[in-house]
Amino acid sequence: MTTLTTSATAAGLGEFIDASPSPFHVCATVAAQLESAGYTRLAEDDQWAALAGRHYVIRGGSIIAWDAGDGGNSFRIVGGHTDSPNLRVKQKPGRTSAGIGMVALEPYGGAWLNSWLDRDLGISGRLAYRAGDRVDHVLVHVTEPVIRVPQLAIHLSEDRKGVTLDPQRHLDGIWSLDSDAPDVLEWTAGYAGIDPATVLGWELMTHDVAPSQLIGADNELLSAPRLDNQGTCYAGLRALLDGAPAIPTRVLALFDHEEVGSGSERGAASDFLATIIERIVLARGGSRADYLQAMAGSVCVSGDMAHATHPNYPERHEPAHRIAVNGGPVLKVNQNLRYASDALGEAIFAVACEAAGVPMQRYTHRADLPCGSTIGPITAARTGLTTIDVGAPQLAMHSARELMGAGDVPMYSAALQAFLSEP
Ligand code: ZN
Repeated sequence: MTTLTTSATAAGLGEFIDASPSPFHVCATVAAQLESAGYTRLAEDDQWAALAGRHYVIRGGSIIAWDAGDGGNSFRIVGGHTDSPNLRVKQKPGRTSAGIGMVALEPYGGAWLNSWLDRDLGISGRLAYRAGDRVDHVLVHVTEPVIRVPQLAIHLSEDRKGVTLDPQRHLDGIWSLDSDAPDVLEWTAGYAGIDPATVLGWELMTHDVAPSQLIGADNELLSAPRLDNQGTCYAGLRALLDGAPAIPTRVLALFDHEEVGSGSERGAASDFLATIIERIVLARGGSRADYLQAMAGSVCVSGDMAHATHPNYPERHEPAHRIAVNGGPVLKVNQNLRYASDALGEAIFAVACEAAGVPMQRYTHRADLPCGSTIGPITAARTGLTTIDVGAPQLAMHSARELMGAGDVPMYSAALQAFLSEP
């Protein structure tokens, strides 16, 4: 179907996801692939000398990479988010209930809570520790199943209808039956090779350790966690790496904290993207006026996953806007600005899909159901960039285990590649 050359595959997305259980690991996975393609890392607290070429910057769980290509004073930006809803470890996680050692967990973002039960969970995130007279941090990825949040037996629920999950009482995970076992923080520090006594801060979260997998009679589907929104992180990364240098500077901007509103030092509501673009312009010898001119002539595609029409609940979808799995990238439009797409932006993305040789689908949420949102409107308001909200179709969004079409992965990436290359 795709007429544009792309290296993006569903199996490649599965490997990307399995290596990336936390936003910090998404940045590390993206950075490793950028490095092997010749990108070099810059630090925000360094001076940037006259810069051309390919670089990236990491701010916590967010990353921005760019290929300055042939120069020119405009930018093509693909945005996305690195975080996904999950269960996260509380500050004082150790507790005992019914004689069992537990880990106190709480939901991050709009996790579909029932989907987290009865899964074998690993731990990931980062630990900050004292290293001599300074503070350092290390990423940790526990790939073995060490935590489990079990369902209540059906026989113990009222009327056998299950229970409504209380995020405070029902989501703690079983950790150990041994009352002398180290608590989760001490154990995780040891796993990461850090002296537990030096650990002073942590952002730890759980993930389903079952690997991503192609499924279905013809392997046409990808079953994986975190497709929202690592589907975009991966497709955008391949689009940046596969595409040829072009007149606009091609940018990939992946933000943490979308699932909780983007309002942090590294979220889409921060100064991260605007600051990096201004510094690129200044490092080339441009002025503040050149930067403002560049922003006025630049375009951002905000990529986030889209709702495919659910075969068991077709009535939950806008009837005339069926979104097909393996049907191609999705343009998302919302009259109340839950998405940022406007007529000119829509046309720009339609041109990109046409150039990539992929079909484009148009999504509108039912008017009587609350529509989700994404980084598009936030980025547009923060930067003034023309912004288009797009995505790839998926089912079971925000479940611990999501589902998308294998064929949508290369089509989505090809569309983003074509968009990045348009002057
Ligand atoms: Zn999302």
